[in-house]
Amino acid sequence: MESGRVHIVGAGPVGLMLTALLQSVEGLSVHLYEKRQDYKRTRMVKLASYLVADSLESYRTDHIDGGNIDAIFDLPELEEGLAFRRAIPADLMALLQELSQGFCPLNTIERSLSNLIDARSSNTVQRTSTAMTAQNAEAMLAPGDILIDCTGCRSLLRNHLVPGHDEAVGGDNTVSIRLEYAIVITFLYGQQYVCNEYCKYHKNVENTEYKFIPAVHRTFYDGNISHVTGIVNITAEDYELMPSQFDGQWLRENFPGIARSMDRFIDKIKQETHGEVIGDLEIVRIPLVLYRARNATSRAWRSGEFNDHPFAKSPVFLLGDSAIGSPYFQSISLGFECATYLAGLIAQRDLPMDEMLGRYEMHTYKQWVRVYMRSKMIKLNKDLFEIIDQPDALLEKLHIY
Ligand SMILES: Cc1cc2nc3c(=O)[nH]c(=O)nc-3n(C[C@H](O)[C@H](O)[C@H](O)COP(=O)(O)OP(=O)(O)OC[C@H]3O[C@@H](n4cnc5c(N)ncnc54)[C@H](O)[C@@H]3O)c2cc1C
Repeated sequence: MESGRVHIVGAGPVGLMLTALLQSVEGLSVHLYEKRQDYKRTRMVKLASYLVADSLESYRTDHIDGGNIDAIFDLPELEEGLAFRRAIPADLMALLQELSQGFCPLNTIERSLSNLIDARSSNTVQRTSTAMTAQNAEAMLAPGDILIDCTGCRSLLRNHLVPGHDEAVGGDNTVSIRLEYAIVITFLYGQQYVCNEYCKYHKNVENTEYKFIPAVHRTFYDGNISHVTGIVNITAEDYELMPSQFDGQWLRENFPGIARSMDRFIDKIKQETHGEVIGDLEIVRIPLVLYRARNATSRAWRSGEFNDHPFAKSPVFLLGDSAIGSPYFQSISLGFECATYLAGLIAQRDLPMDEMLGRYEMHTYKQWVRVYMRSKMIKLNKDLFEIIDQPDALLEKLHIY
């Protein structure tokens, strides 16, 4: 039934990861489509250590995530995930181990995966430089081909996976929850610097609003240089008044209250560790949103009524930000995790299509529940932290029974 042709649209980190996983599967020919000419996104991102876990214990080390994993996944599912991870080719696993050591520029992840794919002697990947359209994606499919949409948060196919639910009629294949608005402030600091929850508290003591919160594990050492990334919660009105990217000077001139909080925090780092900020601050404003595709596959096209549609004869999957988006630096890891699972399914060449679609839907849903639970817990902790010295406000937020 399967043709062996796999089309991956979007060569961002997740599309490249899936390509690198499938490249060495016997009998598959992988076609990778990308519209960008070069990898230019330099923002620092962090991969989760569970991506390279070689045991169930090391998969569950995050203290918020660990309990959720036990609640959501059955043991055989976790063991299957482990088996899929153990099947990751050695060169790719070595690269993941290196990349998950600490912060990395996003384009370092993209370039190193891309180079790994090109350098392999069994390079069977055909790359096409194009901005794919949904119509072209449908038209290129031969029955039994597999199509995977890795085109990011503005997914090419999310609104085409359910008959009748295309963009023209509103495209409601997305569940979206906005957690907060925030600015993300990144800078280099010329000393080693570690920040735990005590540090976050004491350096924010005088900040009654706009607390500066370096995310947990958000610093890593590059010799004596630390990369610091902090989140500051802002209001919807603040968000509307800010450009999408700006520097420290713009913040000081236009939002002195936020700048004072941030500067107080940075001054305390300096007093403690006697270093200096290197260069300027890079700041982006972002809505922190959790979302998922209600349907992450083309399963809905496979009822008798739509038998002739290309998506009924060829399985289509959403992967990475195309399927699920999450804040607090979790998304790429989640995309890589789902890519490993999907590659594990595709590698089972005799797996019936309906079973493959059903298992991927279920897995994606469980990963969504996992990231939803962890994100809500982080958000609640952040909210409580904002009012930690105001007992009445704190009690108002607490729901103990
Ligand atoms: C400020 C900021 C900080 C972040 N920090 C982190 C972090 O620390 N950790 C983390 O895990 N995540 C982080 N993220 C999120 C992370 O960047 C995304 O989750 C990740 O890039 C998603 O990867 P992806 O491959 O699914 O999609 P994308 O990175 O969006 O890649 C999609 C690719 O598809 C291509 N494409 C799109 N449409 C088409 C088309 N029609 N035809 C051909 N090609 C197409 C695009 O050019 C692109 O190359 C951060 C995001 C922001 C904004």
